[in-house]
Amino acid sequence: MHSKVIILGSGPAGCTAAIYACRAMLNPILIAGLQPGGQLTITAEIENFPGFADPIQGPWLMQQMEEQAKKLGTNVVNDVVTAVDLKKRPFTLTGDSGAIYTCDTLIIATGAQARWLGLPSETAFQGHGVSACATCDGFFYRGKQVAVVGGGNSAAEEALFLTNFADKVTLVHRRDALRCDKTNIARLEAHPKVAIAYQRQVVAVVGSENPKSVTGIVLRDTKSGVTETLNLDGVFIAIGHSPATALFKGQVKIDESGYIKTAPDSTRTSVAGVFAAGDVKDHTYRQAVTAAGMGCMAALEAERFLAGAVAPKPAKKRKTKAAKPAKTNKTQKTKKITKRTKAKR
Ligand code: NAP
Repeated sequence: MHSKVIILGSGPAGCTAAIYACRAMLNPILIAGLQPGGQLTITAEIENFPGFADPIQGPWLMQQMEEQAKKLGTNVVNDVVTAVDLKKRPFTLTGDSGAIYTCDTLIIATGAQARWLGLPSETAFQGHGVSACATCDGFFYRGKQVAVVGGGNSAAEEALFLTNFADKVTLVHRRDALRCDKTNIARLEAHPKVAIAYQRQVVAVVGSENPKSVTGIVLRDTKSGVTETLNLDGVFIAIGHSPATALFKGQVKIDESGYIKTAPDSTRTSVAGVFAAGDVKDHTYRQAVTAAGMGCMAALEAERFLAGAVAPKPAKKRKTKAAKPAKTNKTQKTKKITKRTKAKR
């Protein structure tokens, strides 16, 4: 299967890229991936996606986005890409189904996944009191008691954010010191609504079935091994995110945290014709609406790349110093590629 544009990933970034690519008559193929619809399919209610006065369901929103992309002409394929070759053109992708896909431009929108503790009870209550996004779900805990698990900046910021709604926020950390910035530590320690439970590990989430909701967490003291139950209404897991970039290692530039590097104010990656949008390249905002915005950017940039309106630039600065011959060679190589691409057009 060949397409001018292939989009990998079916979350808000992927679907929006598909919608814009259709509007540019590029007949995109969207490969849905392992979790069709992405992270929003495990979010119960959404109140901050513009355009909806009443809360909407995450899975419903993703269905609508896919429907819109399909109606406009996207070929949505249910496959999981297991190998990519971005070193020669057209780019080649191999699917788990055995299908081989080729494309002139690729939009990577494979997203990121919140890390979970891996407890069966945590999975059982996801969307019913267990969440990995305070920005998305914090509003539902007005006047309630919640816990945040983790000791990094995300956990600290989620805990502080939740004080806007909850009466009490307990930050649960497995060590005797937080790893977040000192400013965040000071803010947490000074906040009257925040309590910090050091050296505690969550061993279970407890709750009721009717209605399905969390009623507490079981904590184990990592030193003494003693367990206790903390009664609360919600627990937020903030132990980091893993961008889905394993497939692209050695193919496009990836930063030290595993996110795809893009040029400033752009979705261009280090490979001309390959764009990245959404959580796979964004460790700052990680919102459905920002992912959708980046999907739009990626499709517009792919369209311009294909039309030759803007010469493709790699994410890396092209400036070279005469004294460093190795870099000069690289620049020459880049120039050759650009010339070849222009000649093709
Ligand atoms: P992080 O810094 O990697 O922290 C993850 C935390 O979760 C650590 O405290 C870790 O504990 C804990 N953890 C990991 N696995 C766990 C498990 N199975 N059970 C219990 N606890 C577990 O992740 P992050 O907070 O998401 O931040 C990621 C990056 O983004 C960092 O570089 C951070 O500084 C940055 N960030 C910056 C800002 C900001 O500047 N405004 C905001 C958010 C994030 P240990 O400490 O024991 O390893």
